[in-house]
Amino acid sequence: MRVVVTGAAGFIGSALCEALVKAGWRVLGIDAFTESYEPELKRENLAELIEHADFTFVESDLGLTDLRALLDSADAVVHLAAETREKAAWGNGFARFVERNVLATERVLEAASACGTPRFIYASSSAVYGEAACPVLETATPQPISPYGVSKLAGEHLASLHASRGLPVVILRYFSVYGPRQRPDMAVRRFIESALDNQPFSVLGDGRQVRDLTYVGDVVTATTAALTAPLAPGTVLNIAGGHRVSMLDLAAKIGELTGVESPRVLNQPARAGEVQRSEASISAALTLLGWQPVSDLDTGLARQIEWQAERRRQRRRRPLEAARPGGGTHRDGPRLMIYTQDGLGLGHLRRASSLAAEFLRREPDGWVLTTSDSPLGTLLRDIPNHDYLKLPSIVKAGPGDWHPLSSPLEVGRLLQLRSRLILEAATAFQPDVLLVDHMPHGAMGELIPTLETLRERGTRIVLGLRDIIDAPDVVQQRWESEGALDALANFFDLVLVYGSQDVFDVCREYGWPDDLARLVRYCGYVCTAEKPADAARLRSRRLAALPAGALIVAMAGGGADAHGLMSTLLDALPAIHARRPCALEIVTGPFMPDDQRQDLKRRAQVLPVRMRSMVRDPLARVAAADLVVAMAGYNTTMEILRLGTPALLVPRRGPSREQRMRARRFADRGWVHELGPDGLTPERLAGAVLEALSSRSKASPGGAPDLEGLTRAVDHLLAGTAAHRPAPARPASVPLRGIPPARRLASGS
Ligand code: NAD
Repeated sequence: MRVVVTGAAGFIGSALCEALVKAGWRVLGIDAFTESYEPELKRENLAELIEHADFTFVESDLGLTDLRALLDSADAVVHLAAETREKAAWGNGFARFVERNVLATERVLEAASACGTPRFIYASSSAVYGEAACPVLETATPQPISPYGVSKLAGEHLASLHASRGLPVVILRYFSVYGPRQRPDMAVRRFIESALDNQPFSVLGDGRQVRDLTYVGDVVTATTAALTAPLAPGTVLNIAGGHRVSMLDLAAKIGELTGVESPRVLNQPARAGEVQRSEASISAALTLLGWQPVSDLDTGLARQIEWQAERRRQRRRRPLEAARPGGGTHRDGPRLMIYTQDGLGLGHLRRASSLAAEFLRREPDGWVLTTSDSPLGTLLRDIPNHDYLKLPSIVKAGPGDWHPLSSPLEVGRLLQLRSRLILEAATAFQPDVLLVDHMPHGAMGELIPTLETLRERGTRIVLGLRDIIDAPDVVQQRWESEGALDALANFFDLVLVYGSQDVFDVCREYGWPDDLARLVRYCGYVCTAEKPADAARLRSRRLAALPAGALIVAMAGGGADAHGLMSTLLDALPAIHARRPCALEIVTGPFMPDDQRQDLKRRAQVLPVRMRSMVRDPLARVAAADLVVAMAGYNTTMEILRLGTPALLVPRRGPSREQRMRARRFADRGWVHELGPDGLTPERLAGAVLEALSSRSKASPGGAPDLEGLTRAVDHLLAGTAAHRPAPARPASVPLRGIPPARRLASGS
């Protein structure tokens, strides 16, 4: 007897295939190792099975492959393949569920119908019931409350349709399956991991949700029985273990079984789509299949605990094996992945690049992959072992309002594409640490699938936060409504604040609860470690015609909104020059619109002004100047402070209050001069420039700024790699472990 099992590398699929070959079936397993969770785990699931003479494996996507060729002459098909991570089905993620749970299912059903397959089992789920009255019978009207449940119900409808046209379909609705190889997103597995790490158990909502837990061995016997039982086409059966426990009781039981006394529980926000009670009546399975579950909960959980503990022992051994002579192929230091959204800016990317450079200076065998949508990423300093993945750019027009910068795609599609690119990159790169810059959930939540995947594989997840983002009430409201706080609470190990607590207390200002405050480490301000090249020569060249004059440098980061300041400065220059002869160098920034740049250029021709849109060495300009006039962007301000050049900051007017807040707080401490942007006139600007040029360095009531952020932030990142080193990555070109090439059929063969 020959059976085709789709999703053969998954949790239930691999257990079923093992049981089937043991029972004498010849099994053809199909799986695409999708990125729903770490593909490496799925490959491990097949490691022993693949040695079995009666098992053949095809790595292939059901949405693409020639299914008739694979199903031809099969005595049965068990269709388990699906996108299973329920919480990923909301929002943009749903497209994947439609693709894999609906479209792929229809393809498999059509192929089975065409081949006249004598038995087709469709693996459905308790999720189709939603909040139905418990214990639920198969006759209850399905009413799913999650997109995942909807996708599984759509699969059922398709299966019933083919049953009505003669395909002998059986629909099995599995209830909360647990046991060895359970998926990393599932509660039992997560609780056991927490127990083994001696960490609190993260419980969604109040933890009183009840689940009908089913041991995987019982699911396998039910499914095997359904392969041959005389059942009418379209039969639907609940398959449940009868162990009805609340999440809190489950946590307590796992605590007991792992020897954790009084396990701590961390209540996380309740998740949409979580049903309160899920309990099945299994009388139909008993009558029609002669099946009932036999595993008791303690034994099943103990098996899963032992399996997880053994996996961890193996993972700890692996890096040591790789380090032995002949064990590893190349030196493979820690891997850092950086995500930063910066569609029309430079600041985030420059900070990320400084962190990458410092990380690799201290770990020369390490690797950094930066993903960002800044068009300027590839222009950044070349650093060995640092690569850059450019995402399609989007820009923010207002809260929650994003637009493509240079793509014809509609923004939803573009975000979907970006999200998949980031996830694919993270899955392949397998970072030890993910550093997320300033947006815990990424633009419009695009990072969530990556956070889920990396969290499950044990990557350390760190948020890097420039201290001041906007007015506290705006940030609080936005983070709350966009789900950034939830993402922070659910996925992050650490928050590195690039600033000083006495200047801006992030937790107090943003009203973070104690649980989040515990994650925060203040690093001091992050400033590039680069040194300015030959500032003295630059100064003497700029002042060649005016040796006793002052050199004023005006700069504004990306420059997208710098025209107002630069234009007023040009108007103010004659008055400044009359009182204090000077030369002015303006660096507009690469993003100043061209017509505005041309306007400045034309007016500058008759003045002692030199204009540049971008310079290779902005630090040399700052070091050479007597005064820097700048907006109060983070990086420029920190570079000025580091080099000790007097500065006049004219913060950006809006939309965010970030620069005004920074300029005010720094001016209060005597670190800079400040001129508010409202009512900016050439006269006021000239007065402020002359005052800043003539003032002696002020006493700093707030002490000197702490500029050690780069070193401290990298200390934290490196500490993460030593403590949380997941298993080393397998190079993409290495064939599937244990699968002889001859037994691995090509896709579509
Ligand atoms: P799993 O995610 O471990 O396994 C699913 C497998 O399908 C994965 O290995 C994946 O790579 C593969 N796959 C997905 N799309 C594919 C495609 N287009 N082509 C080829 N392979 C593809 O999940 P699981 O927990 O073993 O669940 C198996 C089935 O049982 C699913 O249909 C799921 O909906 C159902 N189910 C599971 C549970 C449970 O508690 N685990 C409960 C109810 C229902």
